[in-house]
Amino acid sequence: MVVLVTGAKGQLGQAIQSIVGNQPSIDFVFCNSSELDITNLVNCEAIFKQYKPNFCINTAAYTAVDKAEIEPEKAKLINIIGAKNIAEVCKNNNTILLHISTDFIFDGNSKKPYTETDIPNPSGVYGKTKLDGEIAIQNTWGKHFIIRTSWVYSQFGNNFMKTIIRLGSEKDSLSVVNDQIGTPTYAVDLAEVLIQIILSPITNNTLSNTFGIYNFSNEGKCSWFDFASEILTLNNIKLNMKGIPTEDYPTPAKRPKYSVLDKTKITTTFGIPIKKWKESLKECTQLL
Ligand code: NDP
Repeated sequence: MVVLVTGAKGQLGQAIQSIVGNQPSIDFVFCNSSELDITNLVNCEAIFKQYKPNFCINTAAYTAVDKAEIEPEKAKLINIIGAKNIAEVCKNNNTILLHISTDFIFDGNSKKPYTETDIPNPSGVYGKTKLDGEIAIQNTWGKHFIIRTSWVYSQFGNNFMKTIIRLGSEKDSLSVVNDQIGTPTYAVDLAEVLIQIILSPITNNTLSNTFGIYNFSNEGKCSWFDFASEILTLNNIKLNMKGIPTEDYPTPAKRPKYSVLDKTKITTTFGIPIKKWKESLKECTQLL
């Protein structure tokens, strides 16, 4: 079985690479953005022709949430045209596509965890382009899994956890938003779930049709303030922490106030157990 992974140098791409040793039955092909530019259909076709993947995990994306507000065309090109190109070549090669999407497709006005059938209503350019990327895939190729996730962190790349650790060692006090609620996701847990979907007998049974949208994050919920506090505690960093409202930390792109994802569908379909966010954060911290 050949699994091709796009965006190999990104956070999730590296997280997948960190667990491939556990999967000797899979031949992984990792392509970074210079080897496989998802905005270039000819490039995509050539790579698929060369490796003939059974599955493609598309981790490649434009992920600069705030910068997207000032360069929407670039975000559209990567998150919509890029996603469509990948779906197109998957269709031409009968490759099952696993694509990653985001909680930012929701407006955050809900009071209960978002299910896969809740109506998206993104507030910013990044969320809009990720939603349009999902739609482009759905309109192009039926054999897809779209995994929506949230607040991804890991020992790889740049992320909130690393920023807090850095700020914690530079500053005496830290103000963090305490009125946005969501769930952190350890990229390595997400990577493992993607592999479990690929290897699942349900996915590989031609009679069952489990394709579609799934939510995945760790279990539980917290604010960015709670997340930051736990990061500092686990890293034995002591400083004054202050919880502040969103209005006191303005950003170019609006964030959803509430983006907890309901994971019932992924757990019942694939029998996937999900770790609590604090447990996974502890695991990740031990690797730093
Ligand atoms: P990263 O920004 O760490 O990685 C994205 C990767 O995509 C980079 O390596 C980048 O390469 C690559 N890329 C950008 N443009 C192209 C292109 N045209 N062709 C090929 N590759 C390209 O993101 P994450 O790994 O954190 O995110 C993975 C997925 O998860 C994304 O779909 C993201 O939208 C989604 N997600 C992420 C969340 C988070 O908190 N990080 C939350 C929710 C969802 P290069 O650097 O060389 O440009």
